[in-house]
Amino acid sequence: MADGFNEVPEAASTTRWVYSFGGGAADGDAKMKNLLGGKGANLAEMSSLGLPVPPGLTITTEACVHYYAEGKSYPAGLQEQVDAALSKVETQAGKRFGEAANPLLVSVRSGARASMPGMMDTVLNLGLNDETVEGLATLSGDRRFAFDSYRRFIQMYSNVVLGLEHSLFEEILDDHKERLEVSVDTALTAADWEKVVADYKAAVTRELGADFPQAPRDQLWGAIGAVFASWMNDRAKFYRRMHDIPESWGTAVNVQSMVFGNMGDTSATGVAFTRNPSTGEARLYGEFLINAQGEDVVAGIRTPQALTRAAREEMGESAPSMEEAMPEVFAQFKSVVERLEHHYRDMQDIEFTVEQGVLYMLQTRNGKRTAKAALKVAVDQVAEGLISREEAISRVEPSSLDQLLHPAIDPGAIRDVIASGLPASPGAATGEIVFAADEAERLAELGRAVILVREETSPEDIHGMHAARGVVTCRGGMTSHAAVVARGMGRPCVSGAGEIDIDEKAGVLRARGRSFSAGEVITIDGAKGEVLFGAVKMIEPELSGDFSQLMEWADGVRRLKVRANAETPLDARTARGFGAEGIGLCRTEHMFFDEDRIAAVREMILADDEAGRRAALAKIIPFQRKDFEELFEIMAGLPVTIRLLDPPLHEFLPHTDAEIEELAASAGLDAAKLKRRAGELAETNPMLGWRGCRLGIAFPEIYEMQVRAIFEAACTVAAKGEAPIVEVMHPLVAKKEEIAFLRKLTDDTASAVLKERGVSLDYKVGVMIELPRAALRADQIAEHAEFFSFGTNDLTQTTFGISRDDSGKFLDAYLKKGIIEKDPFVSLDQEGVGELVRLGAERGRATRPDVKLGICGEHGGDPASIAFCEAVGLDYVSCSPYRVPIARLAAAQAALEKKG
Ligand code: PEP
Ligand code: MG
Repeated sequence: MADGFNEVPEAASTTRWVYSFGGGAADGDAKMKNLLGGKGANLAEMSSLGLPVPPGLTITTEACVHYYAEGKSYPAGLQEQVDAALSKVETQAGKRFGEAANPLLVSVRSGARASMPGMMDTVLNLGLNDETVEGLATLSGDRRFAFDSYRRFIQMYSNVVLGLEHSLFEEILDDHKERLEVSVDTALTAADWEKVVADYKAAVTRELGADFPQAPRDQLWGAIGAVFASWMNDRAKFYRRMHDIPESWGTAVNVQSMVFGNMGDTSATGVAFTRNPSTGEARLYGEFLINAQGEDVVAGIRTPQALTRAAREEMGESAPSMEEAMPEVFAQFKSVVERLEHHYRDMQDIEFTVEQGVLYMLQTRNGKRTAKAALKVAVDQVAEGLISREEAISRVEPSSLDQLLHPAIDPGAIRDVIASGLPASPGAATGEIVFAADEAERLAELGRAVILVREETSPEDIHGMHAARGVVTCRGGMTSHAAVVARGMGRPCVSGAGEIDIDEKAGVLRARGRSFSAGEVITIDGAKGEVLFGAVKMIEPELSGDFSQLMEWADGVRRLKVRANAETPLDARTARGFGAEGIGLCRTEHMFFDEDRIAAVREMILADDEAGRRAALAKIIPFQRKDFEELFEIMAGLPVTIRLLDPPLHEFLPHTDAEIEELAASAGLDAAKLKRRAGELAETNPMLGWRGCRLGIAFPEIYEMQVRAIFEAACTVAAKGEAPIVEVMHPLVAKKEEIAFLRKLTDDTASAVLKERGVSLDYKVGVMIELPRAALRADQIAEHAEFFSFGTNDLTQTTFGISRDDSGKFLDAYLKKGIIEKDPFVSLDQEGVGELVRLGAERGRATRPDVKLGICGEHGGDPASIAFCEAVGLDYVSCSPYRVPIARLAAAQAALEKKG
């Protein structure tokens, strides 16, 4: 028996580790996802609904958690509980596990709480051995089928459980085909398969020094152990990191009576979505294969057929649809899937098998979908009365909206089509051709845009797909691995581009008589299913009516306001177009990145006395005034928070002699003196250096100039019409004495300008809370500040003591080792940095109950961090323009969550 049984803690023996399903009943239900995993919970639910589900049992996720917690040993009682549940399955199936004449065969599959398609291991046809294969041959009346099943089992088991490479078996099969002079598997006879089986077994013995296990119970425990082990394989770990799935959840194991879709032409296997997962269109959608087994459809080895006649006709296919090939079973299937969608009140992703004319349901789950489809399905289902508006809001993953907000190919662009395939995942992307996942990852790390082109993808390619801008495959349908995974990741994908022939060794792809080498640039159009030569012109996307509808509902329930971080007119317009309710952070130093402006800023920074600085500032003020006027106009009626200069000096100092000489020439200064001054200003830790208000305090004339420009611009705009809503923000404040000084400077300068212009204007002065000291002493700081904006980029940097600029070098190791679950610069570290935000908010409010509170670090656009901001009761979040819709939706979801 498996090693795991050695150490058995007695106390655990009363725990229930196994749940049965089948025969119109089940121990579990759909609500028990945490314990039974998604697949197990839904199999139980379908069984209780009386749907045709082959009987089986689910080993709980808790058993997996126990397995890892107790040094990879199975819990006490598990073996007995599996035995008992298996005999129930035997009774329901009318077969016995390991009985030569009438064998029960099972599948063993993983099933975590959240679906992790293809990441973990599966074994099919388990229970076959030299004796039971004979029984299967007699029972099915099809010896060829029996031995074909046996060889599939040996290959799968040897790979998943015994750790042998697929290629070992593929080579044996190829040798046989060569010897028989046939090219397809279907040409092999029963006798041929028997020989293949004998060779497979001999190969196992040769490789491992032990025979292929013949005892079905040994096979079963081997497979259960392998599924548990697969929870910790690299693919699964990577997938979990990408999708924020905690390692502590563990996976369930489903052991289920086998049904066969490969028992002749009245048998089939397929996958279906109750609506189109790419567009959301409310029409049954999917693929099936006649006379095929489980994984054949997903693996993309044969080209599947359409389910419905209409879909077949649309695709211009000649092979009959399921509706045409097996009309009665199709009618039954259609009513089952409609029932499932109504029951779950969401679009379902279904796997089924037809065994000799009898339908079996193998899986149902809420279907993964593109953002476009998610919006359409949610909005349609509200109209159909299936779900409420609140549910519709919670059905759309905020970060997925990103897919809709990115460019598509300009309809007017010239399209040099290299090849076409299936429109597997929408969006467009341009990049260099790469043929291997590792290479894609390597180049992407160097900042290169790549398109991964593969024969077909497998879970081993997932890191490469993630690193690539887009994916192309030569084989496989709309539900192939590439299609499903790319859609989930929001990467554009063209699948099944059969015209492409990849010669990986030569590093070229050939299509339509042309060839293209690795490194050449292509563009893919995932919405049309085309691969184009070169970099093709893109356009900004147009947002659908469904998008506006859902956003309107979201706006109706959210409490948090959403502003944008923007300083250019283009960004400000984009942000307003996406529904931003003002600017939460205008980084004024970013307004000087232009070539013609940076010289003046450098001159100002490098000036060695006030007169020099004032001279440089005089050159800058006209730009500033004009920029602010434009921002105020674009944001008319909405608040604009302008942050005074916060230049990490190293970003602005000239670095090379050439740059120094150029600056000296343009400013009429002495190059040697400039060089010396630049040396004096260079810092070892510039991110913790002479930045933010430290600059404004040392050289008040800089902030005076900026405040003057702000208020002169405000007066000009006010004179034309609506007065702007001005908020002046001071960066990197640590002490109340700093803000007391800066507040006075701001008020004095503002009132001087307003007096000069004869204008009266309300405005606010606030601070960024981005240092732990500021958060801790927020009570004192609030005496002088009317608003706080939490600068969580710097607050994360200073709380962790990790440099924003360099942390990438080691954070990856932290992520891989599970020391941190997410990069704290991407998603707020709620326990540490978040605690400072919470404290800062509380203490600020204690002094000034109406102090306005916002966040403007990158976290302002991260859904999990937004939920935290809602919980702490901030007033607004501010994020980059493209994330404004994401933040609106996330804020609505957070509000709904809080309401319960
Ligand atoms: C911050 O520190 O969070 C912030 C928004 O300011 P910056 O990123 O400009 O330092
Ligand atoms: Mg900052």
